[in-house]
Amino acid sequence: MMTLTFLGVGDMAARRNHNANALVETWPGRPEDGDPPLDTLLIDFGTTGPAAMHLLKSTPGFEHYRIPPADASTLGVDLADYRRLARIVLTHQHVDHFGGLEDIALVLRFWLAKLGGAVHRPELIASDELLRTLWDGSLRGGLSIGMGAATSLEDFFVPRPVEPGGAVELAGGYRIRLLPADHVRSAGKHDVPAFGVVLESATSARCAFYSGDARVDAVANREWFDRADVIFHDVMLQGPADAVHAPLAELRALPASVRAKMLLYHYADNWDDPRFAFVSEEFAGFAQPRVRYVLAP
Ligand SMILES: [Zn+2]
Repeated sequence: MMTLTFLGVGDMAARRNHNANALVETWPGRPEDGDPPLDTLLIDFGTTGPAAMHLLKSTPGFEHYRIPPADASTLGVDLADYRRLARIVLTHQHVDHFGGLEDIALVLRFWLAKLGGAVHRPELIASDELLRTLWDGSLRGGLSIGMGAATSLEDFFVPRPVEPGGAVELAGGYRIRLLPADHVRSAGKHDVPAFGVVLESATSARCAFYSGDARVDAVANREWFDRADVIFHDVMLQGPADAVHAPLAELRALPASVRAKMLLYHYADNWDDPRFAFVSEEFAGFAQPRVRYVLAP
């Protein structure tokens, strides 16, 4: 089975929800069977990621992400066990999507490594260009302090460059595929790296589409809007139509068959204003945090 759980469902400025980041898990059976997941993959890990992960590990059914009580006693702090995270895929370089990566890197190296064994380095999946700008433009400053001049992304993560259209196999017979997303533009569409993610079963036709931060692009995404069994789509509840996100009014114009399997995420703090009550009728609803969505059996 493959499942997806949102750590948070909010936009960058949301304060009632954490940033829109998600945890994908593959399983030998069902999560409730008690076995550990076969594979784990974060889709993004933003500024609020560490707090969201801390909350998730205390949620029933997510005990796998707690460090044992004896280890918490050794460290003097009760941390989420980042050693359980095999992979991270980065959709783009906005702080609500990458702002927690420095926390992962430092906690693994300076806290969890004290518990023994080699320093865990999660696989970091993104396009080659995004991996380079992530390090040079964002992570290098914080992660190089006191680490020597030769510090690199490889000291903390295992970079895995994947270009749009490329796939990564997940344990258990599943895979993810990166697609270009129409989010921020410099001079034209797709000239600033941003990606959506297709999550597929390798043995059946089941698949899910995760838009990443994106405008509505029904033409480019038509195949996935038709094929996907569930669609997680960026939404902007109010704002200008030329914004870099997906205006709710444009999403409402999609066919009913698409909206019926579309869960909206990356929403602002006023999602529960009564004027948005129609979302639960016209869409599959607003995505909920800390709930496991089954993507494939
Ligand atoms: Zn963004």
